[in-house]
Amino acid sequence: MTTEFTSLNLRPELMQAIAELGYTEPTPIQEGMIPLMLTGVDVIGQAQTGTGKTAAFALPILHQLESFSRQPHALVLAPTRELALQVASAMNEYGKHLRVRVLAVYGGQPYAPQINNLRRGVDVIVGTPGRLIDLMERDVLDLSGIKTIVLDEADEMLNMGFIEDVEKILAATPAERQTALFSATLPTRIRKLAERFMREPQSVTVKRPTLTLAATEQRYYYLHESDKLTAVTNLLEIEDATSVLIFARTRAETGLLASELTQRGFPAEALNGDLEQNARERILGRFRDNQIKVLVATDVAARGLDIDDISHVINYQIPDDPEVYVHRIGRTGRAGKTGIAISLFTPREKRRLRDIEAFTKQPLTLGKLPTADDIRARREQKVIDQMKVWLGRGRYQREREMIEQLVADGHELIEVAAAALKLARAGEKQRPVANVAEVAERPAYQSERGFTRGGERGSRFERGFTSERGERSSRGGRQSHEEGMTRLKMSKGKLHGVRPNDIVGTIAHHAEIPGSAIGKIRIEETFSLVDVPEVLVDKVILHNGNYRIGKHKFALERA
Ligand code: AMP
Repeated sequence: MTTEFTSLNLRPELMQAIAELGYTEPTPIQEGMIPLMLTGVDVIGQAQTGTGKTAAFALPILHQLESFSRQPHALVLAPTRELALQVASAMNEYGKHLRVRVLAVYGGQPYAPQINNLRRGVDVIVGTPGRLIDLMERDVLDLSGIKTIVLDEADEMLNMGFIEDVEKILAATPAERQTALFSATLPTRIRKLAERFMREPQSVTVKRPTLTLAATEQRYYYLHESDKLTAVTNLLEIEDATSVLIFARTRAETGLLASELTQRGFPAEALNGDLEQNARERILGRFRDNQIKVLVATDVAARGLDIDDISHVINYQIPDDPEVYVHRIGRTGRAGKTGIAISLFTPREKRRLRDIEAFTKQPLTLGKLPTADDIRARREQKVIDQMKVWLGRGRYQREREMIEQLVADGHELIEVAAAALKLARAGEKQRPVANVAEVAERPAYQSERGFTRGGERGSRFERGFTSERGERSSRGGRQSHEEGMTRLKMSKGKLHGVRPNDIVGTIAHHAEIPGSAIGKIRIEETFSLVDVPEVLVDKVILHNGNYRIGKHKFALERA
């Protein structure tokens, strides 16, 4: 059941603004939060950016603003200047027909304009904790009229070391105020803060980011870790990518990847927690203005990033949590545009693919990486297309004179044209083209679904079938299980000297099952797959901790 905005009984000026923004129905966090906040109770909203949380607190605050006395009635605390500006601008937008005055205050800016604005009178203040404390200490911030205080991204404020400032600000506001706390996670320190400063808070949790993924094409590539960089550059060559956000796992990786891409002719910047606020702003500004096309970020650094025009999100590393995947790719396909989400899976990550598909209830499509030939052809086509555009325009008077001179000097026209093109393409040298070796095998469960081998009983006859990268598909090493069998995975393989008989021996011995019950075994470089009858799986897993081959202990888990 979805609620209509009308059932929330918000004042007409707000309804008008909502309609103008094109919102048709409240998001789950809004649906849960708005009626609660309107009753005046304290609330905790567990929700991330992208869920519509800003409107979830902004609308009730604006609904309840009464006198517009220009004495601040509401205070929103935000961890970063960027979020403060975003919230202030959203509140101005929602409140535009009420002519509400919202002021953002944050560090790194001169005090005078902020103080002047405060003196002129505002209805809502949105600020970062440090600057708010500074203004309080300068006696220019009157918090005595505050009716509602919002802590936005409380966990981030904690991470950034602002929690004591937050407490100080809370303590300076009237005790009878309403407190709303928003946080993606609720670590102990935040719960303690809530216990201390909130009165019987009610909770609203949005389990999943309610992003619509419908407008996003989700594609994946299956490749080896060492080929990822080449794969990304090849994709950047061929995709119509205007604005690309690449997610890496660590700060170090963002820096490394950005510099590798830049060296290969794709100017990229890294966005990570090491950056000063000013540097971060600068980079985001350049990205927004399309001066740089590629941004490499960690999940943490990308929080609060609100850019609508991202054409491609690339998961260079696959997140452990499918929810993070959804959150990442929700950054493309916004504002009515189609987005493309590209994920690079290594053979070891096949399980994550399954988890993500199960979580999103949407399949990802296996893509085929462009070959060096594809890229060369594409580059040539681009040059030809650009030439045609220029030939159509005809605005090259000076160049024409230069060519005439060369012809007068005795050069063939066609030779001159070819030499000119050679010059024009000189920049391509910076971007060497290389093929990425296909991983011959698809993730296991795809092939399991994809082909059944009529009548062939995968069996112990295939035991001992170990294969090298790339040569296994013909034998279908991972084709469908025998009926009633379940595939288990262990984290030891060829590298550890594992042989099929060792596996059968130790499992049969410790789990006390007949060796003949064990089905197909596949031994890979770093792991092995073992089929056991479903009815014995629990028994086999129960003895994890005892299994050992030589000096290597191992455990089994469902593959
Ligand atoms: P937030 O989580 O507050 O950062 O909001 C994420 C995005 O969702 C913003 O671009 C909002 O403008 C948009 N948004 C918020 N509420 C709604 C709604 N009810 N319907 C459609 N879009 C919304």
